[in-house]
Amino acid sequence: MYPEDSSVLVYCNTCWWSDKWDGTEYGRAYDPSKPFLEQLYELSRITPYMALENLYTSLVDTEYTNYAAYQKNCYLTYYSDYANNVLYAMFIAHVNDSMDCYRIRDSELCYEATGCYKSSRVFFSEECTDSHDIWFSKNLIGCSNCVGCVNLRNKSYCIFNEKYSKEEYHRIIEEMDLHTQRGIDAVSKKAKEFWLTKPRRAYEGNSLNVNVTGDYVYESKNAHDCYMATSVEDGKFVQFISLPKVKDAYDYSGWGNNVERIYECDIVGEGAYNVKFSSECWPDARDVEYSMYANACTNCFGCVNLKKKSYCILNKQYSKEDYERLREEIIKNMNEKPYRDEKGRVYPYGEYFPLNFSLFAYNETMAYAYFEKDRDVIKKEGFQWREQEVSTHTPTLKADQLPLTISETPDTITREIVACFSCARAYRIIPQELSLLRHLNLPAPQRCPECRHLRRFQSTNPPRLYERNCAKCGIPIKTSYAPERPEIVYCEQCYNAEVA
Ligand SMILES: [Zn+2]
Ligand SMILES: [Zn+2]
Repeated sequence: MYPEDSSVLVYCNTCWWSDKWDGTEYGRAYDPSKPFLEQLYELSRITPYMALENLYTSLVDTEYTNYAAYQKNCYLTYYSDYANNVLYAMFIAHVNDSMDCYRIRDSELCYEATGCYKSSRVFFSEECTDSHDIWFSKNLIGCSNCVGCVNLRNKSYCIFNEKYSKEEYHRIIEEMDLHTQRGIDAVSKKAKEFWLTKPRRAYEGNSLNVNVTGDYVYESKNAHDCYMATSVEDGKFVQFISLPKVKDAYDYSGWGNNVERIYECDIVGEGAYNVKFSSECWPDARDVEYSMYANACTNCFGCVNLKKKSYCILNKQYSKEDYERLREEIIKNMNEKPYRDEKGRVYPYGEYFPLNFSLFAYNETMAYAYFEKDRDVIKKEGFQWREQEVSTHTPTLKADQLPLTISETPDTITREIVACFSCARAYRIIPQELSLLRHLNLPAPQRCPECRHLRRFQSTNPPRLYERNCAKCGIPIKTSYAPERPEIVYCEQCYNAEVA
């Protein structure tokens, strides 16, 4: 994930995870004459980073994936765990044999599914739970064999919310030609128009929530201003939790999996306990502060790319007593002599890392997707900016020259370089993808993986809450649907009455 000209020292994942080094080789003594974070910054620029951020030892035949663990035969999955034969997917957990998905859990055989849970054979659909054989539908629970439906509960054989006999249903969907791109595009357009005629709930969540605010929050309790979070208890400003559970957390981004007492952290998960002001510490980080890529470490302060260690400061090993004494001294110095960045911003103990610690440019991170800013603004605020790389591949096929159906698509398609229908960038159809598409009887996609992801990403509301009024009863509501948007938005009570 680091470009060639990045100043970061990168190890391939085999080398990073080998037992030949543990990070103490880079250990250095604390110098009380300099701000602590300055010394930590220097350490962060000399230790080796893993090429891709994965629990590498848990991946099988999964070479091109990032922020992933426990995967087999996956390709271009990101922020994903417990997956088998999944391609081009993001923010997934416990998913099998699926492609082009976003925010799905405990599901299989899905294609172009966003926000689905405990479902199978869900295609081009959003926010469906306990459902199977669903096409172009939104907000269904307990449904099967539905096309173009919205807000249904425990229904089957429905088309645009109308009930049909089983035979009639199959006759109509046969005519829709859903195994061709033309058929898919036509029904997709009609479905999206139909969805807009029905109300939406102010926020997405499930009935297992208790005392929750935010959006895309599930099975949570006493969780406020949370976003894309599952199973958070007693938390605020918690986001991107793909695996349960999170307990007692504040200002925390990703990813859960049995963590407790987390403050000002990102990508700290899997058994973490009492971790503060840290990034990328997993698994089983305990009593860790100001650390990055401290792997299976406990009682560490200001460590970077360190493995299976305890009582370390700046990657240097101490006795328990010396560690505790020095930690106190450093905290005192951090408050008396805090680090100041180029913009004059001050970082005493209790603040997250300064912006210049980031190993990435702003526009190559998820921040840019959520909060797009001009290059000049980004630089002015002290972030880095990176110019987009220009693709050097010469396409051999235009997307609209792809065969109409997958049954007419030859094996040789995997040798073509296809030009995306939307952005003209080059992409490929890989053998594993061809085999899954044949199994699902779906045509090869005419858009590149990035354009496909962007469409799903845009169908998920951003992490912003607006004050609106329920379109039915008029009470004030907080919702991620901006006031000027065309959706009809109801408060939870009115929505539940409507769909019951
Ligand atoms: Zn594209
Ligand atoms: Zn209402």
